[in-house]
Amino acid sequence: MTNQNPVLDTSPLVPPVPLLFEESVPGRRGAILPEPEPGGTPPPPELIRAALDLPELSESQVVRHFTGLSRINFSVDGQFYPLGSCTMKYNPKMNEDAAAEEGFRRSHPLLAGRYNQGNLALMYRLQESLKKLTGFGGCSLQGAAGAQGELAGMLMIRAWHLSRAGEERRRVLIPDSAHGTNPATCTMAGFTAESIPSGPGGAVDMDALRRAVSGEGAATLGGMMITNPGTLGLFEKNIVEIIRIIHDAGGLVYGDGANMNALMGIVKPADLGFDVMHLNLHKTFSTPHGGGGPGAGAILAGKTLGAFLPGPVVVRRAEAQKAGTAPGPSGNAGAAPGDPAAEPYRLESPPSSIGRIKAFQGNFGILVRAYAYIRTLGGRGLRRASEYAVLNANYLRELVKEHYPTPFGADRPCMHEFTAAPDLGGGIHTVDIAKRLIDYGFHPPTVYFPLIVKEALMAEPTETETKETLEAFAAALGAIAEEARTNPELLKGAPHNTPVGRLDETAAARNPILRYGPAE
Ligand SMILES: *Cc1c(COP(=O)(O)O)cnc(C)c1O
Repeated sequence: MTNQNPVLDTSPLVPPVPLLFEESVPGRRGAILPEPEPGGTPPPPELIRAALDLPELSESQVVRHFTGLSRINFSVDGQFYPLGSCTMKYNPKMNEDAAAEEGFRRSHPLLAGRYNQGNLALMYRLQESLKKLTGFGGCSLQGAAGAQGELAGMLMIRAWHLSRAGEERRRVLIPDSAHGTNPATCTMAGFTAESIPSGPGGAVDMDALRRAVSGEGAATLGGMMITNPGTLGLFEKNIVEIIRIIHDAGGLVYGDGANMNALMGIVKPADLGFDVMHLNLHKTFSTPHGGGGPGAGAILAGKTLGAFLPGPVVVRRAEAQKAGTAPGPSGNAGAAPGDPAAEPYRLESPPSSIGRIKAFQGNFGILVRAYAYIRTLGGRGLRRASEYAVLNANYLRELVKEHYPTPFGADRPCMHEFTAAPDLGGGIHTVDIAKRLIDYGFHPPTVYFPLIVKEALMAEPTETETKETLEAFAAALGAIAEEARTNPELLKGAPHNTPVGRLDETAAARNPILRYGPAE
């Protein structure tokens, strides 16, 4: 396909990757190993293998091979990545500088508190910032992912019920549009998940909710898990009423805060009545994610559940010490205020803590990055980030609505993302659109989620993209709609310019072939 518009250039995305085995030349070397030390102990013979069939190459060939492979990857640093519900925003490089500071990078988690005050101070300030943003009174930074934050929150709710003889309160209501981690984590915490349908506007069906908690239902209700904005990208207008209904029935409400990118500085979830929630620092707070890298799911809780937070959390004792009310910490008894050896920051477990959910102090390097992000933007900057995230999503939704309409909530603004149900005709499915977008150089949006939208295509542009990028993406979606009309087979066979074409994803997952060459 030839196209004059550079935006719609579908020529191969990356130069060919030099191969390793094919370029091997016997005797060529990329590294010179030192001779074994004279008099050293040789390895035991059973550990010495026969010569391995490894390629023989120069160092530069190897570097070019692996650099070439890395360029086949999609990344936020390389391309637009509108993966819905994942908040794939730009990862500021300044955060990396901060996390690479010696004192952060080289400190050991078992270092005594007095040598670790700077790191504990950073964690304390991050806890405080997140508390201020959400309105909650307690924060734990232990969670290594959103899902782990959810699990912790649900264990806290379970512990709270058990502390008040609520053993039988095991039912947890979850909207049918929820992220899959919600039913999974609530089940792991000992509850049973129960789906609540969405009404025609995409909001929770209030009659179904009332039915689920009335009569017998109230006595067995553990609570509810809900994300706001929901996965349809719509603000749940009845949220205060929903939470009141659950509270009246004796349940608690878990807020899945993965969608906080729409709300920073605008809504404090604690004000809406949530009892506990997590924040995805690797989404909303710009720390890198994906590829299995470390994340962070901070857990926040209000009055009811604060004492159950996973521990330890960082507490500050400067005020208490100044007032002369607190005893000196162990190993530092009697340190005078202002004494550099004093330890104002200390790790402590909340009184009814569910315990640890992660070794040491969570993913500390990620916490540094999130804190750097918060300090860079400041309160007003965070609010603007959310405002732009919402603006960008609405702009994109508007640009593509002809062929990619939103079946729920089309009559009102979306939040930071939207879920479309494309209808291009020609037997074209969402998967074909997603694969063809790769040819145009874009990461596909989230597809087939949430489950309540047929052929769902869920896009989240984030605030860090330019107007031009959004327009280029919309142009690609427009071109694909045109291709669906004129040449649907082109879409069904996509992608065409990637190193491998359309995969049988089910077979690839169930029966992966991981060897390089043909089987012997
Ligand atoms: C991403 C996400 C989660 C889970 O977060 P992980 O860090 O991937 O475990 C939960 N709920 C929603 C709505 C999400 O978008």
